[in-house]
Amino acid sequence: MNTIINNIAIEKAKTSKINEVDFDNLKFGHVFSDHMLECNYKGGKWQTPVVKPYQPIVLDPAAKIFHYGQSVFEGMKAYKDVDEKVWLFRPLENFKRLNISSKRLAIPELPESYFMDGLKTLLEVDKDWIPKKAGSSLYIRPFIFASGNGFHASPADEYKFIICTAPSGAYFAGEVRVLIEEKYSRSANGGVGFAKAGGNYAGQFYPTQLAIEKGYQQVIWTDDNTHEYIEEAGAMNIFVRINDTLVTGPTSDRILDGITRKSIIELAKSENIPVEVRKITVSEVVEAAKNGSLKEMFGAGTAAVISPISGFGYKNEDYELPKFDDTYASYLKKRITDIQTNKAADPFGWRY
Ligand code: PMP
Repeated sequence: MNTIINNIAIEKAKTSKINEVDFDNLKFGHVFSDHMLECNYKGGKWQTPVVKPYQPIVLDPAAKIFHYGQSVFEGMKAYKDVDEKVWLFRPLENFKRLNISSKRLAIPELPESYFMDGLKTLLEVDKDWIPKKAGSSLYIRPFIFASGNGFHASPADEYKFIICTAPSGAYFAGEVRVLIEEKYSRSANGGVGFAKAGGNYAGQFYPTQLAIEKGYQQVIWTDDNTHEYIEEAGAMNIFVRINDTLVTGPTSDRILDGITRKSIIELAKSENIPVEVRKITVSEVVEAAKNGSLKEMFGAGTAAVISPISGFGYKNEDYELPKFDDTYASYLKKRITDIQTNKAADPFGWRY
């Protein structure tokens, strides 16, 4: 029987897959919970969302997502505290960014209540899927794609907004070695780099494969014009620590406005860690690695929160970063995850 929460109709799955899941050995984004939220855009309007059993989607082969890649997505997490209360981290930022991405891809913007009420209802229905183990969380993937068909290269007239969730362990195990990219780019001025558009990630796969073949795990993206400025680390924002100062590049057309990035900047400032938001040149980082002032580099993003970098390659040279305790990376990661999981006070009002 269907029930209704927050005006959203819920069709419950007949059987649950939850007993098949080993919650002590979760990988990242490999198993999916019992339900999903679905909301369709047709006739010029987003229709009321529904929660239904997780299931395949039937699409016309001429659906524009397949041909023109008109799609955007978000990534966020739900956490359970020791009292089994459920928390989100700055979810309105994800909602706003989804619409910023949609606008750039000519996808109709979604009403806030469909996103927020839809998400809350889905989490209510699948709350048993939110892991309790420290470091684990329910990864949430909201996405929108062009389901309307036609071979004409123009925006579709129908879309689907879906939220799926996946109980997940940590994203990256340990430190990563990265390759500073000298040839390929993930984004360009006037392009879509600031949007979470599906195609941005497809375009990263090949250069990343080449880096993996050379023994690195990730690519450090540089600006498309000169390749002289460091911009992002894989699908994360990047921070470098030179002496005691934490530096990250300014957001732009080419750089995603990461929620972890802006939280780190605010948190660091509030704790009197010197932070600079300014362009970082590759030569500055190489020079700092040579003279010992480069103390840390790390990626920042929802999935890994903070992913420390152990060394980098550039122009056929390898550079190691120093190993020491009490890094900004480990300190800030703990501060942020403690706020996210309700282990520490949240003076910023980030927890939801
Ligand atoms: N840059 C890119 C290209 C990303 O895909 C992500 C992940 N969303 C980030 C940065 C980090 O953003 P956030 O902290 O909001 O997850």
